[in-house]
Parts: sequence; C-alpha cells; structure tokens
Amino acid sequence: MKKILFLDQSGKPGGAELCLIDIAKPYRDRALVGLFADGSFRNLLQQNQIPTRVFSTQPISVHKASDLVQGIKSFQQIAPLINQVIRTAREYDLIYANTQKALVVGALASFFSRRPLVYHLHDILSQEHFSQTNLRIAVTLANRLASLVIANSQASKTAFIQAGGRQDIIEVVYNGFEAKNYQTHESEIRKLRQELELENKFVIGHFSRLAPWKGQHILITALAQCPPQVTAILVGDALFGEQDYVKQLHQQVAELGLENRVKFLGFRSDIPQLMAACNLVAHTSTSAEPFGRVIVEAMLCGRPVVAAKAGGAIELVEHGINGFLVTPTQPQELAKVITTCLQETQTTATIASNARISASQRFDVATINQQIAKLLDCKIKTSYVSTNQPIP
Ligand code: UDP
Repeated sequence: MKKILFLDQSGKPGGAELCLIDIAKPYRDRALVGLFADGSFRNLLQQNQIPTRVFSTQPISVHKASDLVQGIKSFQQIAPLINQVIRTAREYDLIYANTQKALVVGALASFFSRRPLVYHLHDILSQEHFSQTNLRIAVTLANRLASLVIANSQASKTAFIQAGGRQDIIEVVYNGFEAKNYQTHESEIRKLRQELELENKFVIGHFSRLAPWKGQHILITALAQCPPQVTAILVGDALFGEQDYVKQLHQQVAELGLENRVKFLGFRSDIPQLMAACNLVAHTSTSAEPFGRVIVEAMLCGRPVVAAKAGGAIELVEHGINGFLVTPTQPQELAKVITTCLQETQTTATIASNARISASQRFDVATINQQIAKLLDCKIKTSYVSTNQPIP
C-alpha cells in the first residue's frame, strides 16, 4: 500500500493544481497534500476529500526569475518548512513534487528521509519563463534526486532535456479529464447566456488566468477586426499579482471602443457550463504552452477551439481536424479564423464533434491515472530495492 506525500507550493488553483486533484484522488485514503501557502486550492482539495496540510503560511519570496542571492536568502526563510516536510515524509513511501518550489523542498526531504522523489513537470523549462539559476537548480535536483520526472507534454519533456535534464528518468503523461463533467444541458446554456446578456451573440471564450503571456490582449486586438456580433468573455483572474496587465487590458478595451463586446468574468468554478455557452474557445498564449488544459476542456465541451501554435498545443490540436491553430501573437490570423468559424458553422460543428470524441478517449482520467499508478509502483519498488528496505 503506497502512502504518498504530494507537495505543491500554491494556495491558488492553477492548471498544475487542478491536475493534482485528479492525480491525488485515487490515493486519498493514504495520501497527504502538503501546501506551502493557504488559499482556495485547499478548499478544492477538501471538497474532494483529499487530506491536506498547509506547511507554511509565509509566502516564499523566491520566484521564477530569481537569481542566486535571492535564492540563498529565501533558503533561510524556508528552513522551518523544510524541517516540517522532512519529518512528515518519514511517514510516507514516496514524495511527489508538483511544482518547482515543491521540487526544491521535496528533493531535500527525499535526501534526508530516504524516500523516492517524483517530480511532475508542468512547465517548459526555458529562459523565457525561468532565470538561469532557477533552471539550473530544477534540472540539477531532478537529475540527482528524482527517480522519475513526469512531463505534462512532449514539449515540456524536450525543454527539460535541452536544459540538461536526464532522458532516462522522464516520461510524458498528459493531464486526465472526466468527460462526463463537461456535459451541460441545453437549458442551462440558455439560462447562462441570458444571465450574461449574450443572446444572439457569437461568443468567444478565453479561459485563463490574466497574465501577459496568456495573451488576452491578442484576442482583444483580434476582436476589433471581427464582425460586431462577435463578443468575448474573459474568464480568469490575475492569480499571481499581474494587476498592471489587468489595467492594461481594460484600457485596451476602452481605447478600441469594445466595452460592450468584452466581459471580464473573473475566476469562475463553472468552466464546463461557461465553455458550453460559447461558440468558440480561444487560446492565445504568446509563448509555448506546456500543456493547455483549457484546450482539452473546450474539446470535451464540444466547442471548437483555436489555439496558439506552439508547445503542448501542437500535440493537442490538429488544424482543421479537431480544432484550429494560429501563429502566436498574430491577431489578424486569429480574427480570420474567428470569422471563418462564424460563417462556416457546419464544418466548424463537425470539427468540434470530432474533437469531443477523440479527446474523451485520449485524455480519459481513469486511463491516465493507471499510467501514473504503474510508473509510481515501479519507482517505489526499485527505490526500496536500491536502499535494501523491505517493500511495504
Ligand atoms: N480555470 C478555472 N477558472 C477560471 C479560469 C481557468 O478553473 O476562471 C481553469 C481552467 O479550466 C483550466 C486551468 O484553470 O483547467 C488552467 O490550466 P491551463 O493548463 O490552461 O493553464 P495554466 O494555469 O496551467 O497555465
């Protein structure tokens, strides 16, 4: 019986955290999710009856672009947290780090508690997103201490190897989804469109935290080039303090005179219903998306999706078959696809229907969880063999 200590640095539910809920669920009678910050993610875990403990309520000041000096300073700050995690890890068979800071803490805990470490890589480890120091730390710790790295896409795996990561420890496992959670009744869709005053509109949904690289501004620029009945809903909040960007988006909307055609809905928990209320879902990341949960979710909702052609999105979408791909940061190209979807409803509906069928098979959560269980089983056994401990 495997007991797993999952670690995640965030109190807020980003894509990596939502994925962790699905992974931790099958282990909930013998697992603990340790968080390094409190927030609404803890509530979501608890709603799913997953045991949760907040190890530290102090924000960790190191971030993706931090240099070595900042890193060393923050190390002193997180020493008590590391202590708590090491003590807790001794009660578990495996440590599963779900984020970068969780990898740092998990690696130390793995070393001192002699428990195997698995790192779930939800990022593209490139200099576009991370400082050189952070990249080096992540790759070195993973190479030296992780028995297994699970990459959320081929794109994340490739970037890991290019950054110096070991090929022999990394496996690609896509995010899993429960298809039945993405079915919405027609009456519910009508009610929602009415509430949001979207009747008779061609609605494009953008579902993502508000952050410059998620490219909401690209969609707004494209919208100005689309026919007037095309309206956008921006679903998501600035989860990591991107308030300047939020201001910028509102300004852009005002400058383009789009106040009646763009709605900011903030963070929502009814994503499947909102997606079902859309005519098209747009993904507009300006740099490579590691996976792109929203793309698969749109497919499962039976809604056509247009995605920025980079990173994991290319593994999910085949242009003209199960969705549309456009060059990142090219609003004109995006506007063209939007207009085509508006005009060619039959072809677009067929594409969306193909996508729903293939996505429900390809990303079935039960199958994905089996893949992960197999990998973890194997890692726990080999690790106990190498440390000469009896297998529990
Ligand atoms: N999401 C949500 N509420 C919102 C906006 C987004 O629950 O208001 C969810 C969305 O449905 C998706 C996740 O947040 O499951 C975002 O994951 P993705 O891989 O698209 O991006 P990430 O946040 O990991 O960069």
